[in-house]
Amino acid sequence: MRTVSNISQIRPIISSAKQRGERVGLVPTMGALHAGHIALMETARAQDDFVAISIFVNPTQFGPAEDYQAYPRQLEQDARAAQQAGVDLIFAPSAEEMYGEGFATYVEVEGLTEGLCGRYRPGHFRGVTTVVAKLLNIIQPDAAYFGEKDYQQLIVIRRMVNDLNMPIEIVGVPTVREPDGLAISSRNRYLSDEERAVAPCLYQALQAGATRVRQGATGAEAAEQVKEILAKEPLLRVQYVEAVHPETLQPAEYGGPPMVIAAAAYLGAARLIDNIIIEEGTDDA
Ligand code: AMP
Repeated sequence: MRTVSNISQIRPIISSAKQRGERVGLVPTMGALHAGHIALMETARAQDDFVAISIFVNPTQFGPAEDYQAYPRQLEQDARAAQQAGVDLIFAPSAEEMYGEGFATYVEVEGLTEGLCGRYRPGHFRGVTTVVAKLLNIIQPDAAYFGEKDYQQLIVIRRMVNDLNMPIEIVGVPTVREPDGLAISSRNRYLSDEERAVAPCLYQALQAGATRVRQGATGAEAAEQVKEILAKEPLLRVQYVEAVHPETLQPAEYGGPPMVIAAAAYLGAARLIDNIIIEEGTDDA
C-alpha cells in the first residue's frame, strides 16, 4: 500500500493499474476511519482489482460555525486500518494541494440539495460535490463507494455523475451500526457517556416511523410520530425529521413505501444524522 499526497503522483499509479487491465475503485473519506468506512473498502475490494481511498478533511463542506478545526485527523492509524482492509493506495492531500491559489470553480447540484441537511447546512453540498468531482477527476476510478448513512449525499453524487457524464459507477453501501443501533460516525467521539447512552433512540424512533409507513401511513404522519418519540428525550435537539421519496427527495405525501425517513439531531456537541430506507414489497428496512 502506498500513501501519496500530491496529485501529480497519482496519475502514473492509476495509469499503470489500468494498463494492467485492473478495475479501479475509490472510497472518498475524511479519515478517522471506522467500521462504516471499512465496509465501503471491503465492498470495493470485492468488486475492484485496485482500491484507492482518499483521506481529506474538506474545508469547503464545513460551515463557519462547524467543526472543521476540531474534526479528528489521524493519518497513521488510518493507514494501518486501510492496509488491513486491503487498500492499495491512500490519497491524502493537503488543503493547499486541493485548493490552489486562485481556485474559483465549484460544482453545484440544484434541487436535491435544497431540503433535508441542505436546508440547515448552506454551502455544504456545494463543497461535497466540488471535492468529489475533483477526486473523481484526479483518480479516474471505474467505481466510487458512498455510505447510505449520508443518504442525501449519495443521491446528490449520483445526480452529479449522471449530469456531468462521468463514466463512473456509484455504489451505495448500507449503514454500519453499533450493536445498539447507533449509526457509526467519526463524530460519535464527541458524545459524553451520558449522551452516548441516549444516542440509539434516533434509530429506534426511525424504526417506529418505518413500521407506520409499512402500515400505510403518509410521510407526514410517520415523521410526526418520529418527532413525538424524540421529543421525550430532553438531551436531544432535533433539527429535522422528514419522510421523502428515495430518488427525488421530495416530501412523501403519499401513503406507504417506497420512502426514506431522514433525521438530524444535536446531542451535546455532536450533530447526528441517520435514516431508514423503506423499500416497496419488503418487510425489511
Ligand atoms: P466521512 O469520512 O464521514 O466523509 O464518510 C466517508 C464515507 O463513509 C461516506 O460515503 C459516508 O457515507 C460513509 N460512511 C460513514 N459512516 C458510515 C456508516 N456508519 N456506514 C456506512 N457508511 C458510512
